[in-house]
Amino acid sequence: MRFSTLSRKSNSHFTVYIFPRRTMVSSAIPVDKRFEQTSGAANSVWVHRDDYANRPKFQPLNTDLKAQVCVVGAGIAGISTAYELVSSGKDVVMLEARGVLSGESGRTSAHLANALDDHYINIMKKHGREGAQIAADSHTWALNHVGDVAKKLNIECEYRHVPGYEISMYERGDKGHEQDMKQLQEEADVAKSLGLPVQFREDLTISGWNGKPDQRGGAVFAGQAAFHPTQYLVGLLHWLQKQPNFKCYTSTRVMSVEERGSKVMVKTEGGSSVECEQAVEATCVPLQKLSVVAEMQYDRTYAIAIRVPKGSIEDCFIYDSAEA
Ligand SMILES: Cc1cc2nc3c(=O)[nH]c(=O)nc-3n(C[C@H](O)[C@H](O)[C@H](O)COP(=O)(O)OP(=O)(O)OC[C@H]3O[C@@H](n4cnc5c(N)ncnc54)[C@H](O)[C@@H]3O)c2cc1C
Repeated sequence: MRFSTLSRKSNSHFTVYIFPRRTMVSSAIPVDKRFEQTSGAANSVWVHRDDYANRPKFQPLNTDLKAQVCVVGAGIAGISTAYELVSSGKDVVMLEARGVLSGESGRTSAHLANALDDHYINIMKKHGREGAQIAADSHTWALNHVGDVAKKLNIECEYRHVPGYEISMYERGDKGHEQDMKQLQEEADVAKSLGLPVQFREDLTISGWNGKPDQRGGAVFAGQAAFHPTQYLVGLLHWLQKQPNFKCYTSTRVMSVEERGSKVMVKTEGGSSVECEQAVEATCVPLQKLSVVAEMQYDRTYAIAIRVPKGSIEDCFIYDSAEA
């Protein structure tokens, strides 16, 4: 069981996972080699039940190849893109600088949500009703699609629907609580008008969250989803490995992606290349867009995993209104 809180209105957030006792798998990766597996100094909570040893192994690229599409980066964006393309019959090569799932996707808190951090009120102000509708529909489709794919490929990844609660960081009686309730009521109204199953509940209490301070009240987003991200993505990779129109190479860093007429040339650090019709950069940080990189803010998100007695806390997402 997992219980998470994410603070809002900033990129940094803090997450608490709570999960029942199960066999813990220890990982014996030497610390100096760990960056090949994961982008943090410590292991993420997911490897306790899905050790690095379970991840499919691929070789580095040491020859020139041709493909219809080259996907760069083997995180959730790259692997999901490869899955959709390979399913529709495209010939796909995926290149990964380190090991598969060594980036953010191996360390995510794995909330599949249409309760968005940016809030629909703000999205609507910036992108109009049509933009907000696209955000609501696409997130809803995506969070359900993960469940459909897991079912179709028979991937055991604990996928389940859970409610998402948006609450105030302040205690009832505090002025901040009053303001938050007003905003959450507005957010719930806007989200509802976009077709989402959202309810504002003045007297909302969350099972297992009823101690002090009294943060009652909030918006309830039904139909969010939780899953084990690496089990899901490893399942996709196992399926992809069996497809004749898919190849993957790891320890293969891409250095450049250049359009040449109707072709795209992808070059690697080792001197090999992939000539393709289309390339997808799924590297989390863009490879060439230095203007975007220069504007990015460095931060690290923290998560804590805690064991609790089974059934003591509802399986749900809780988001408060804290800045960081
Ligand atoms: C603690 C934490 C909690 C989070 N919680 C949530 C959440 O609850 N819900 C949510 O939606 N999001 C959450 N996120 C964000 C989410 O995890 C990321 O947005 C998502 O995983 C990014 O996926 P990606 O595939 O784009 O990138 P990554 O998973 O980082 O994959 C990119 C891959 O590209 C590879 N790569 C980079 N450069 C090159 C190159 N030159 N050549 C070849 N390969 C390269 C990297 O090695 C990496 O494997 C969280 C993130 C963190 C850290």
